[in-house]
Formats: sequence, C-alpha cells, structure tokens
Amino acid sequence: MSESNEQTEVVLAVLQAIADRIEAEKKHLTDLDSAIGDADHGANMHRGFQEALEQVEGMDDEEPATVVKNIGTALISEVGGAAGPLYGGSIMSASQELEEGITPETSIAFAEAYLDKLQDRGDARVGDKTMVDALVPAVHTYKKSIESDELPPLTALSKAVDAAERGVDFTVGLRASKGRASYLGWRSVGHQDPGATSTLFMLEEILDVAADHLEGEIDRDARSPTIPDEEPEDA
Ligand code: ADP
Ligand code: MG
Repeated sequence: MSESNEQTEVVLAVLQAIADRIEAEKKHLTDLDSAIGDADHGANMHRGFQEALEQVEGMDDEEPATVVKNIGTALISEVGGAAGPLYGGSIMSASQELEEGITPETSIAFAEAYLDKLQDRGDARVGDKTMVDALVPAVHTYKKSIESDELPPLTALSKAVDAAERGVDFTVGLRASKGRASYLGWRSVGHQDPGATSTLFMLEEILDVAADHLEGEIDRDARSPTIPDEEPEDA
C-alpha cells in the first residue's frame, strides 16, 4: 500500500471513531446545549458526521487532503447552526495544508489553519465560552510540544488533549459572549459549553486512533476518565 493510501486509511479511521463517539454522546451534547442553547448540538453533529461517512465511502484511494476536504464539505452541508460552518468550513479550508501528506509539520500547519479560519469566521476569543476555549490551548500546546519541547507527535497530541480538557472545564465558569448562549448573559455561567465539549471528543478520538499508528508516550491524564472510578482514599 502506498504511503498516501496508508494516511487515507488513518483519516478514515479517525472519521469513523469520531462519528461513533458523536453518536454515543448525542444525548450528552444535546443536554449541554439545552441548558444554554436550543438543544440541537447533539443532533446537528450526529447528522453531519453520518453525512461525512457517506460522503467519503469508497474514497480509500484518494489523497488524505481530498478526504479531509470532503469531510468538511459534508459538515458544512449537514450540521447547520453555528457549529456547521465553523467546523466544516475550517476543516475544508485547512485541508490544503495536508496536500503534501501528513507529517508533524503539516499537522501543525493544519491545526493552525483550522484555528485561524474558525476565529476569522466566528470572531470568538478565549474566554467567550465557545469551542475556541478548547481549541486554542490544544493547538498551542501541540505546536509548542513538537517545535520547542521536541516531543514525539503522539505525546504532543496527548498533551493537547489534556489542554483541551482544561479548556472545557474553564468554560463552565464563563459568561458567554458569542453564539446563542450569549443571549442568556450571566445565566450562562455554571454550564459547560457544548461546542468546546464536542471539540474535546474529536481530539480524544484523534489521539485514540493516532495511538495505534504512532510511536511515543501518552500522558496518563490524557486518557484517564474525567470522573475517577473510585473515591480517593482519605489522606
Ligand atoms: P447553534 O448555536 O446555532 O444552535 P450548535 O448548537 O450546533 O449551533 O453549536 C453551538 C456551539 O457553537 C456553542 O456551544 C459554541 O461552542 C459554538 N459557537 C457558537 N458561536 C460561536 C462563535 N462565534 N465562535 C466559535 N464557536 C461558536
Ligand atoms: Mg444549538
């Protein structure tokens, strides 16, 4: 199998893993969105990722960038709401960075292009209580871990997932200033942002699939469940 076919196989495996996760978390995402939005985020994301699966069927021999671009187009056409153009448009646009294939360098370029496009379009900054609160720390951590700390991409990815998880937790205490949740003003405080949460789920699935394909250490935190199985012992 050629290198680009192997990479396409990984992209398709990531898509399948994300689609399965979104299906499993559909109600969870909808519940989060019903607290501070219009209760459609789970359904929107589920519809979009099912469409993406259909769209890429039989694309095993295409270049990875082409498959990623098609995933973006499917999300734009089916997710709707605020999240559709943000997720889909950013994936579609950032797919150009993968035209030479997927390497540590092009994966950083993809992540940065995705973030740039998303902020261009949505105009949200860290602290606005949106998916940007999960994404910014994740992208910066990924880039720094590879470029400055010279960590293997898999380790960098696991640190990025940890950073995104902290970002999601951070959204709880924020007052929303973008999107539907901003209509609630201070009443949005105390609720976790649905889009930040779906961003974290996607990153977790990318990490999970990458772990089967890349060498490197995974930070223990990045794969531990949010809620510990057992009560901590008394100190
Ligand atoms: P809608 O709000 O139109 O119903 P969804 O429910 O699918 O769309 O998505 C809501 C999520 O979209 C929010 O939780 C938030 O993370 C994200 N979002 C909304 N507006 C913006 C924005 N301007 N920039 C970034 N993310 C945004
Ligand atoms: Mg909604």
